[in-house]
Amino acid sequence: MTLWKSILKKNFHKTEALLDFLDFDEKNRALVLQKARFCLNVPIRLAEKMAKNAPDDPLFLQFVPLKKELDKHHESLSDPVQDRCFQKTALLLQKYQSRALLVTNGVCAMHCRFCFRQNYPYNFSEKVFEKELAIIKSDPSIHEIILSGGDPLSLSDDILRALILNINQIPHIKVIRFHTRFLIGIPERVSEEFLSLLKESKKQIVFALHINHKKELDQDVFDYVKKIQLLGIPVLTQTVLLKDVNDTKEALKELFLDLISKGMIPYYLHTLDPVQGAMHFDVSIEEAKGLIKELRKELPGYSIPRLVKEIPGKEHKTPIFDL
Ligand code: SF4
Repeated sequence: MTLWKSILKKNFHKTEALLDFLDFDEKNRALVLQKARFCLNVPIRLAEKMAKNAPDDPLFLQFVPLKKELDKHHESLSDPVQDRCFQKTALLLQKYQSRALLVTNGVCAMHCRFCFRQNYPYNFSEKVFEKELAIIKSDPSIHEIILSGGDPLSLSDDILRALILNINQIPHIKVIRFHTRFLIGIPERVSEEFLSLLKESKKQIVFALHINHKKELDQDVFDYVKKIQLLGIPVLTQTVLLKDVNDTKEALKELFLDLISKGMIPYYLHTLDPVQGAMHFDVSIEEAKGLIKELRKELPGYSIPRLVKEIPGKEHKTPIFDL
């Protein structure tokens, strides 16, 4: 078994085991939802970074289900970005011109409590994506394939290699974009084998890493990101603005400075997609605009991501301006 798969197998899936590991007392245990519909899935690396007996830890809040998830909010939805309206097949979505998104699988290195795709009807039967690639091949207006999921880095190297070699055969595809969060949980996924398959791409590869808080980063993560960057692959980052996790000027500033200092470009700051069970993370648009305004006073423009909201049916993500 590869190193990263053996690390993945050790993830925490049992709430009590994680709370024991984190030395939680009875009072704080009472806040936690024991049997969440979107199950607990936490890599050891992230659990080790969580403060002990601290339900307000920014990593704990992102990955451990709280009873708040059961609160009813009339504005929350099962599929807040209406993925199902944009399905060309179960595994191919097209929301915007020139780009198509492959839902490569439903597996992630961790389960984020605010994930907008936590209710997606994943279909694992077709891993070669023949039907999807045939559709893309027949549409020369598509220039970029986004590999998403779940997490594309959950696929084996063999499947990823086959996918890349197939995409190499489609002349109008210029860019392959990996949307992944794997590196903050199991950076060892960036193995020599994985790097070698990236080198086989004849298309420009771009990585968009999902990172929300400085605590998700460390020297190991930076070292593995560097291996990708050394292949000439731009590494962008996406952040979701989350109440009590990163909704302060200081938290965002520290994160963006860390990213920039390692050559990663903060690309998007997303407002929360109103998925059921995650409304306690919601930050108002006015607060979000205020945070960006404050950041502009203290950081260079290139280190501040675009604040955006996904509004289903729009031709692109909707930028939130502060005029
Ligand atoms: S890693 Fe991404 S796809 Fe997976 S649960 Fe987290 S946000 Fe959702």
